[in-house]
Amino acid sequence: AINVSHVSKQFGETQVLRDISMQVEAGKVSCLIGPSGSGKSTLLRCMAFLEQATSGSIHIEGEPLGFTDGPQRRRQSPAELRRVRSRIGMVFQQFNLWPHMTALGNVAIALRKVRGMSRSDAEDRAMAQLDKVGLKERAHHYPAQLSGGQQQRVAIARALALDPTIMLFDEPTSALDPELTGEVLNVMRQLASEGMTMVVVTHEIGFAASVGNRIAFLDGGRLLFHDTPQAVFAAPREPRLEQFLDTYL
Ligand code: ATP
Ligand code: MG
Repeated sequence: AINVSHVSKQFGETQVLRDISMQVEAGKVSCLIGPSGSGKSTLLRCMAFLEQATSGSIHIEGEPLGFTDGPQRRRQSPAELRRVRSRIGMVFQQFNLWPHMTALGNVAIALRKVRGMSRSDAEDRAMAQLDKVGLKERAHHYPAQLSGGQQQRVAIARALALDPTIMLFDEPTSALDPELTGEVLNVMRQLASEGMTMVVVTHEIGFAASVGNRIAFLDGGRLLFHDTPQAVFAAPREPRLEQFLDTYL
């Protein structure tokens, strides 16, 4: 589970997140939507501690992220932080694969570096993950020999190989040609059905409506809505949300 409590974030003078509180229960999927610049990526990055909230707190599986709880609030040690962050896998719009390594190499290197696994153990596990995303046959291809959708599935396999309990996706299909988005969304749909806790920033409203247990709508750094797809799409009472849906549906 993810628990975001009164999180605000400023970049210099710019207030990007304003007092955000939201919970994502274990095994549930929240899809994060909102206009460009509304703070979606920043919120997701705060959940992964790639960005530090200016105030407020975030808990991952009940454990504080970044700072300890209690009166003697202090920064977590690198080891504590690493342990909490190890629960989180993240997938970005850009796949960030090493061009000089095969699909298998890209997944295995994460296991060797982060987990200190031997080459052969890492490669066994990497192969099993590539199989899960339907890429066993492409394991020995280099990124340049793979389609965008296949590269993104390698990136998902790489994140999954580290055995996270939470997966964060920031517009995972936005860099893809429309005909390739389906294969990536299907992998994510499968993951959701297996009970992975997920937060997905997406403009794929159809995916959000069918896979999201909750839809979160950000506007100008405020969370205006975090409710079921039915509540959001059947009766969008919030004028800003209505306006947003008009442009995306
Ligand atoms: P998009 O849909 O375009 O990806 P977003 O909802 O993900 O937008 P963010 O990337 O979170 O929006 O950005 C929110 C605001 O914060 C924007 O005004 C952006 O310019 C600003 N911002 C983001 N990162 C930084 C940074 N590192 N330094 C300064 N301002 C930033
Ligand atoms: Mg963004």
